[in-house]
Amino acid sequence: MGKPQNIAICGAGIGGLTAAILLARAGHSVRVFDQFDTPQPIGSGLMLQQTGLAVLGKLGLRDNIEALGSKIDRLWGLTTPSQRPVLDVRYAKWKSELYGLGVQRGMVFNQLLDAALASGVELVGSTDIVSVDAVSGTITRQNGSSIGPFDLVIDALGVRSPLTRAPKRDLPYGALWATLPWPKDSGFDAKALEQRYHKASKMTGVMASGRAHADAPESLTYFWSIRADQEQAWRGGSLESWKEEAETLWPETGVLLDQFQSHDELTFARYRHRTHPSPISGPRLVHIGDAWHAASPQLGQGANMALLDAWALAKAIQDAADTPDALKQFKRLRNGHVQLYQWMTWLFTPVYQGDSTALPWLRDWLAAPLSKLWPAPPLLAAMVSGMIGSPMGQLKLRVRP
Ligand SMILES: Cc1cc2nc3c(=O)[nH]c(=O)nc-3n(C[C@H](O)[C@H](O)[C@H](O)COP(=O)(O)OP(=O)(O)OC[C@H]3O[C@@H](n4cnc5c(N)ncnc54)[C@H](O)[C@@H]3O)c2cc1C
Repeated sequence: MGKPQNIAICGAGIGGLTAAILLARAGHSVRVFDQFDTPQPIGSGLMLQQTGLAVLGKLGLRDNIEALGSKIDRLWGLTTPSQRPVLDVRYAKWKSELYGLGVQRGMVFNQLLDAALASGVELVGSTDIVSVDAVSGTITRQNGSSIGPFDLVIDALGVRSPLTRAPKRDLPYGALWATLPWPKDSGFDAKALEQRYHKASKMTGVMASGRAHADAPESLTYFWSIRADQEQAWRGGSLESWKEEAETLWPETGVLLDQFQSHDELTFARYRHRTHPSPISGPRLVHIGDAWHAASPQLGQGANMALLDAWALAKAIQDAADTPDALKQFKRLRNGHVQLYQWMTWLFTPVYQGDSTALPWLRDWLAAPLSKLWPAPPLLAAMVSGMIGSPMGQLKLRVRP
């Protein structure tokens, strides 16, 4: 579109800030609204894949982010008590130059925020959004006041967006998360996301997650899978008994568990699965990231998907003749990849987090041996990298050589 547009972005998360940077740099007037009083990230460690890294490269942030992240070569999981490997995905099995990047969400957020402000984006906090008129492009806040109208409103409000119509479905499990300093002389593999399982009802994991800033220590993200309806009982229960249970599942994590003095040091994230039928809700309202498609982080794609969405939308706005055409192009660029990964994540989640005994049995005794046979190793690496469905070519993105 030749003419600069007046664009509102709801949500200053990964997707919202990325879209803001790209659109502001393309000459549009961009305002980002968020509920927070002062900008801050939510959540813990993240795994960036080559898809998301390619977008960060286009923003000029990739080198900074890679310098502060931890390169991950493989995902590795053992089932207990047998200690049999049941997850072994090595990125290099698909392409030797592939890797994931473990990062602290706050670090990525700060990089995006600085770039957004430097690109002329106006950030407006303390704005609790409840609805948007998709025809006029007017935003309504919780206090009843309205903002706009805008040529286009982008919903990047994440998994709890009030602007989407699809039913919200909570998954039974979530996880407790904490970021901790990397313990010296520990046996953890700094280049792996490691997990331990007992059936699918117990899971714990450790992922190297880099540094918050250049002077900060190396960190890891620790997580413990838990049913959402047991979180309150866990918080009211004995911390020491839980530590014993967690240490039994993975004895090496004792050195991490010793650091927890209170339940409050672990943050609970409930997972949700939801795919809005279309990212377009009207002539002036479009959804990106978790607001369009939320899933459990089992395949580690959500932030990467939000980055791809933001890139695709900015590209469509650049290439299209008008807003309706831009929204159609955006949907065409992203829909296939989004639907495919939503479907795969839906299938995989109960295999690693759930109450079924049959699924983990199949995982351990059928899927794990089969996953070692060609072509499973390169296919699994491509899946975890976010590359199934070839999302990059049509977006003119490339895996960095
Ligand atoms: C525990 C956990 C681990 C994860 N691990 C990974 C991983 O390893 N790899 C990966 O790729 N993805 C991972 N994800 C998923 C990833 O975090 C999300 O997919 C991603 O953050 C989505 O980005 P977004 O921009 O769509 O939304 P968000 O980043 O959630 O941003 C939404 C923004 O909207 C604001 N907001 C919300 N509601 C309102 C409102 N009503 N009014 C105003 N502002 C509002 C919020 O304050 C926030 O700033 C994980 C998620 C969780 C919970």
